[in-house]
Amino acid sequence: MRVAVIGAGSVGIVAAACLSSLGHIVVCCDKDDSKIDNLKRGILPIYEPNLDAIFESSCQLGTLSFETSMATALKGAKVVLVAVGTPSVPGSSKVDLTQLNEVICKIIAVAEDEKIVVVKSTVPFGTSARLEELKKKLRPDSKLEFASNPEFLREGNAVMDFMKPDRIVIGVNNEKTRIILEELYAKLDRSYTAMVVTKPISAELIKYTANSYLATRLTFFNQISDLCEATGANFNDLAKGVGLDSRIGTHFMRPGPGFGGSCLPKDTNALAVAAREFGCPVTMVEAAIAANESRQASCVTRVENAFGRSLQGSRTAVLGTAFKAETDDIRQSASIKLILDLQIRGVEVSVYDPKAMPRSKEILSNVRWAHSTLDACRESDIVVIMTEWDEFGEIDPAELKGAMSGNVVVDFRNLFIPEKITSVGLNYFPLGLMPSFAL
Ligand code: NAD
Repeated sequence: MRVAVIGAGSVGIVAAACLSSLGHIVVCCDKDDSKIDNLKRGILPIYEPNLDAIFESSCQLGTLSFETSMATALKGAKVVLVAVGTPSVPGSSKVDLTQLNEVICKIIAVAEDEKIVVVKSTVPFGTSARLEELKKKLRPDSKLEFASNPEFLREGNAVMDFMKPDRIVIGVNNEKTRIILEELYAKLDRSYTAMVVTKPISAELIKYTANSYLATRLTFFNQISDLCEATGANFNDLAKGVGLDSRIGTHFMRPGPGFGGSCLPKDTNALAVAAREFGCPVTMVEAAIAANESRQASCVTRVENAFGRSLQGSRTAVLGTAFKAETDDIRQSASIKLILDLQIRGVEVSVYDPKAMPRSKEILSNVRWAHSTLDACRESDIVVIMTEWDEFGEIDPAELKGAMSGNVVVDFRNLFIPEKITSVGLNYFPLGLMPSFAL
C-alpha cells in the first residue's frame, strides 16, 4: 500500500520507517527542509534504539523516501498518516492545533482522489468531527475520509512499541475505512496485538485517558515514596508488596523527579482543560498536574537538603538531561528545570548525558559540558542522577568517590544499591528509602 506520513518528528519517522519495513511504500513529508535534506543523506532527526537499522534497510530497498512537497507526497497514497506536533499553547494548558490545521487544510486542497486521512497526532476529543465539518465547508466534493489512530509508542522503545504494540486503536466512521486500516497493520504479528475499533471520539479520548492515567499513577507513587521517606518505610519493599497484586501490577511504579517529556505534561493539561469545557472536570488529573509541577520545582530543595548547607558556590554534576533513558528528548525534562534552578542558586554545574548533549546545548548555557560520566563528576561536591541511563548505575562507586571533591550523591532514579555506594564513603540520597550516611 502507498502511504504518506506527514511530519518527520519522533512519531512520524518511526511510523514511516516501521511501515516501510512491513512492506508498504512510504513517503515521509516534513516542512522542515533541513530535516528532509538530512533524512535523504541518511541522518535521523532523533536517537531511538534500533531505528537506524530499519531506516537504512528501507532506504536501501527504496520503500522509504522523503519529501518537502505535500502534493508530491500525497500522489497515489491510499492512506495519509498525520503525525505533526500538537504542543500546548505557550503559557496555556490548551492544545495548539496550528500544525494540524495547516496540514489538514493543505490535504483537503490538494488531494483529488479517495484517501483516508489518519490523525496519529494526539488531539483533543472531538477533533475528527471538526475536521469532517472543515472538509465539507472547504471542499464539499472531497473524497477524503478521516480516521483517528492514536499512537502509544514510548520514546526510547518506539520501534519495538510500533512493531509489537499492546493494542492498535482505530476510530472510524465506516466499514470501508476500518478494512483499509486493518490492512495497513495486517503484517504486524497480531498474536501480540489487540485491535480496538471504535468511533473517532472514543479513540481520541482513549489516548488522553491512557496518558492521564499513567501520569496520575506516577504521581501517586512519587508521593507514596515521599511518605516512605517520612515514615522510614522502604519503597522498594512497598512496590513489591503492592505491585504483586495482579489488579495493580508493578509497571509505572518507580519514583522519580516528576514526569516530563513531550506527552504526559501536555496531554494531562489538555484532558483537564477539555473535560472542564465539557462540564465534567477530572479533578484527579488536575491534582496530578499540580503535584508534578511542585515535585519538579522541589528537586533543587532536595539537593540542598542533602548537601546540608547553601548551594551557593558549590560544584554539582548533573547526570542526564533526557526526560528518561534511551531518548535524546529533553522536552519538559525535570533535569533541565533542576539545572536552571541550580544556576539561579549560584551553583557551578557540569552536565553529561549519553545522547541528549546536542539538544541540551541548544537551550542551556554556562554549564561545563563533560565528555563522560566520570568527567562530569570530577571535582564536584555533589552528584545528582536525573536520568535512568544504565551507564550511570554502572559507575564504580570507588571511582566515583575518587573523582569527586565532595561526597553527596542525590539519586532521583535509585540506580545504586545503597550499601554498595555508601561503603566507599559516599552519602547517598535515593528516593523512598532512608538516606544512608556512610560517615
Ligand atoms: P515533533 O514535534 O517531534 O514532530 C512534528 C513534526 O511535524 C516536525 O518535524 C515538524 O516540522 C512537522 N510539521 C509541522 N507542520 C508541518 C507541516 N505543515 N507539514 C509537514 N510537516 C510538518 O512531534 P512528535 O513528538 O513526533 O509528536 C507528534 C504527535 O504524536 C503529537 O501529537 C504527539 O503528542 C503525539 N505522540 C507523540 C509521542 C512521542 O513519544 N513523541 C508518542 C505518542 C504520540
